[in-house]
Amino acid sequence: MPYQHRFMDGSPLHLSLGKVVCIGRNYLEHIRELGNAVPEAPILFIKPTTSLTQLADPIQLPTGRGSCHHEVELAVLVCHKLQNVDAMTARQAVGGYGIALDLTLRDVQTDLKKKGQPWELAKAFDGACPLSPFLKPADLPDPQAVDLTLQINGELRQEGNTRQMMLGIFDLMAHISNHFTLLPGDVVLTGTPAGVGPLQSGDQLLLGLAEHRFTAQVA
Ligand code: ZN
Repeated sequence: MPYQHRFMDGSPLHLSLGKVVCIGRNYLEHIRELGNAVPEAPILFIKPTTSLTQLADPIQLPTGRGSCHHEVELAVLVCHKLQNVDAMTARQAVGGYGIALDLTLRDVQTDLKKKGQPWELAKAFDGACPLSPFLKPADLPDPQAVDLTLQINGELRQEGNTRQMMLGIFDLMAHISNHFTLLPGDVVLTGTPAGVGPLQSGDQLLLGLAEHRFTAQVA
């Protein structure tokens, strides 16, 4: 099914699809596991609308491009235009919260990093952003203190809490809005906790956001 923004009850959100703005390193433990330096300023990158798929649809891994890693992330749906705003204003523009996989061709990315090149070839491919339906903001009253988990084939692989973010959700949105205008229908991915690793064909995924659970599978 073509991707469309939806609420948890299945009702469609009348927002067009926009860009997905992501932060590269926002949880300290994940920075350490990849041996990266703590960035002085947030590392931002963008996934195009063609990267969006429903989380419930089978995940298609690109072939012949090395390992494809899972990065489980809190996703924030933007419902008002944000340009050069502060964190308070950003919070009022949240249309919903979901959970996403920032799929990453890790071998490709490692090579790009070595060459000092941009990350799009590793992160912006078709289907690179499986995304859940959205919870209404009132259903996640304290988004900066929720557990984020990923189990694969029954084994816990990624675990974190959004309070471990170095740059909080609304500060991140405000920061982004100083560089790229956020429009209704855009999505912000807020970084991944530790535990990233390769996905394999047939993997069964269980993603957790607070008390909510979402299933996915790799084709
Ligand atoms: Zn990520």
